[in-house]
Amino acid sequence: MLNKFNYIDDVKKTVLVVDDEYVNREMLGAILKEYYNIIYAENGEDALRLIRANEKILSCILLDLLMPVMDGFKVLDILNDDVRYRSIPVIVLTSEKQAEVESLRRGAADFITKPYDTPEVIIARVKRIIELSENRLVIQSTERDELTGLFTRSFFYEYANLMDRYHGDREMDAVSVNIDRFHLVNEIHGRDFGNKVLLSLSDVIKDYAHENEGIAARGDADDFYMYLNHQDSYAKLESRINEAMGSLDKSVYIKVRIGIYSCLADSQDMENRFGRSRLAANTLRGKFNQTIAYFDNELQHKVFYSERLIHDIHEGIARKQFEVFFQPKYDITDDKPHLKAAEALIRWRHPEFGMISPGDYISLFEENGLIQMLDQFVWHEAAAKIRYWRDKYGVTIPVSVNVSRIDIYDPEIEDKIDKLVDECGLNPEDLHLEITESAYSDNAEQLIQVVEDFRNKGYLIEMDDFGAGYSSLNMLANLPIDVLKLDMKFIQDIHTDGKALRMVQLIMDIANFLHVPVVAEGVEVEDQYRLLKRMGCQLIQGYYFSKPVPASEFEEFIGGTT
Ligand code: C2E
Ligand code: MG
Ligand code: MG
Repeated sequence: MLNKFNYIDDVKKTVLVVDDEYVNREMLGAILKEYYNIIYAENGEDALRLIRANEKILSCILLDLLMPVMDGFKVLDILNDDVRYRSIPVIVLTSEKQAEVESLRRGAADFITKPYDTPEVIIARVKRIIELSENRLVIQSTERDELTGLFTRSFFYEYANLMDRYHGDREMDAVSVNIDRFHLVNEIHGRDFGNKVLLSLSDVIKDYAHENEGIAARGDADDFYMYLNHQDSYAKLESRINEAMGSLDKSVYIKVRIGIYSCLADSQDMENRFGRSRLAANTLRGKFNQTIAYFDNELQHKVFYSERLIHDIHEGIARKQFEVFFQPKYDITDDKPHLKAAEALIRWRHPEFGMISPGDYISLFEENGLIQMLDQFVWHEAAAKIRYWRDKYGVTIPVSVNVSRIDIYDPEIEDKIDKLVDECGLNPEDLHLEITESAYSDNAEQLIQVVEDFRNKGYLIEMDDFGAGYSSLNMLANLPIDVLKLDMKFIQDIHTDGKALRMVQLIMDIANFLHVPVVAEGVEVEDQYRLLKRMGCQLIQGYYFSKPVPASEFEEFIGGTT
């Protein structure tokens, strides 16, 4: 069992000796000091002070019972009541049989009788109690991962904590390593090859960790962890991993992500440290030329910011900090452009951060299951406004709302929207649903089913941000959509770059061929507008006509049409 702690056994552990009599302290110290670092206390109060100060490195306490100021029983009770100290084993020093039972009852691990036994017995007892308590800490966890032989995660955390306890002065790094799109490696090249990749990676990681006086573990699937001495650079690790991956099969490119959290003067618990290194690693998703990322101040700030926003959304909705803005879509097919429709866009006036852009929180809320609440709020506001404007101005301005890919998973989405349209006395074609192109490639089957149901009922579906995702042009012919919204970046350069212009022309031609009208988003200047009009684009949304504005301001556009 002991070899498990081989990194730990070669350092001297610390033992606290508490006794009011100088002679006793000296005697125990002399017996144990060859094997342990000894610190001394003269009474209970003194002992508690030292325990607090040395909590992380204390392996064992030898405690006299009868002492002035504060006796040993009191100390036992305090330690036993506190989760921080409960795991430090206490051996009671006593001459009374009676007191032995009482002290065991109060949480003592063992006792040594006065006058003292032979030194060998005392040393053996202390050693055994320390071993027992260490083993208890790790006994619940299964130790090794079957495939790689690395530690399992829960064992690894316990072990890393023990390392801290005995090497408290070392500066450590928590490192996470995972493989980019590992599930694809398995799916495309088979599980056997996947296992080969994992084994080869684990070899590099194990060696690297050991060379730097650390330990390594494998968590789920392709998640690896290292807890090791702080390194100024991980370039060597990166190149060794690349070399190992490259030698497996030249035709398969395997990219890893390495996230690092340096635990300098740290109070985070082990799980949080690795949570942070994992977060750093995850920032590398989609960054194909970068392999290493650090959990730095910027990321920390982002995490705090995200946590705040997640925390604040409920209150934000309750306190009406969210407001729906409307941006007009103009029909430009006639000589004079006229208002045709609008897009509802969410705005958050945060009491502390001011106006925050949807770019800061839409994908965050998608990840955390909060987007549905927000979207439903927007859909309600939009539907209510369509009705309000119809009553006030006698015209129906169709409004498109954004439907997140997460909304599509909601089995009740159709019922919810039907009910809303019904309650506001609208027709389905008054409410347009914008779904981003990337959602189509995500979960195509389910999405297409939901979208078809909506279309059959008369709702209009707009494919948002077309061109930003990966769907091919021929997919376009088969997808159930009514309107194509061209991604803004296509429009950006059409007046300065001939290639960009030809690209838009091409998409426009295909859309015309399919009889799908195109909305050009992000039109900011007159030149862009004229070019689009000449190419046969029907609808335009952009700052050229107006930024998204509050509902009351939007009414001025409606007023202009009636
Ligand atoms: P989107 O749906 O493609 O919305 C268009 C975005 O382009 C809006 O940004 C709009 O303000 C901006 N925009 C419009 N015209 C111009 C222009 O001429 N120049 C420039 N530079 N930008 C223009 P916004 O409001 O910041 O929204 C960003 C994205 O956040 C939206 O992209 C949409 O994907 C998402 N979003 C906004 N509101 C909601 C919502 O209520 N629910 C969901 N699920 N997503 C939303
Ligand atoms: Mg949109
Ligand atoms: Mg868009």
